Amino acid sequence: MSVKNRGIFLDRDGTLNEDIGYISKIENFHLIAGVKPALLLLKEMGFKLFVVTNQSGVGRGIIAEEMLKSIHHRMVEEFQKDGIELDAISYCPHRPEEKCLCRKPQPKMLKDLAKRYGIDLKKSYLIGDKISDVLTGKNASCKTILLLSENEGVNLDEDDDEWPFPDYVADNLGSAAEWILKDSGVLESMKAEMGIKRKS
Ligand SMILES: [Mg+2]
Ligand SMILES: [Zn+2]
Repeated sequence: MSVKNRGIFLDRDGTLNEDIGYISKIENFHLIAGVKPALLLLKEMGFKLFVVTNQSGVGRGIIAEEMLKSIHHRMVEEFQKDGIELDAISYCPHRPEEKCLCRKPQPKMLKDLAKRYGIDLKKSYLIGDKISDVLTGKNASCKTILLLSENEGVNLDEDDDEWPFPDYVADNLGSAAEWILKDSGVLESMKAEMGIKRKS
């Protein structure tokens, strides 16, 4: 089974790097421990990796757009050092008041990437640390994973119709990747392939 037409849409702040508010300097960009092996696993499974991030600091004049691009360039380089190729990074630079079409939880960034890269959204996953990320994934018909690292206070049992139940709740990106390995059927097909190889 090929997963070439399947994507992992990754939130940035609080999912890949420490969320310390608006990051307007490269020195303040720090990857979360365990992120690299998790992305490597997803990449080895064959998924395309996309970063989808709201960066309203640009629209607010807190982050220069050129600086945002430099930070992303640095992130790409850091991942490349370990053999992880990101397929694309999309960001929304707008302020909420601008009522743009791209700011999460609207699904436009995901839908545009899906069109450009031939991605089957229903077989793809969104991973993020906020409820709005879960909503974004649902709005794009993806499966969703909520990371608890920054959200330990969220009450998952709350009986609220508005609560967008994620398909999975994970403590970190590593356990999210392991869940995807099973949920996507990739693990099964890997086992099957190994079985075929043993017989021949
Ligand atoms: Mg986040
Ligand atoms: Zn936007």
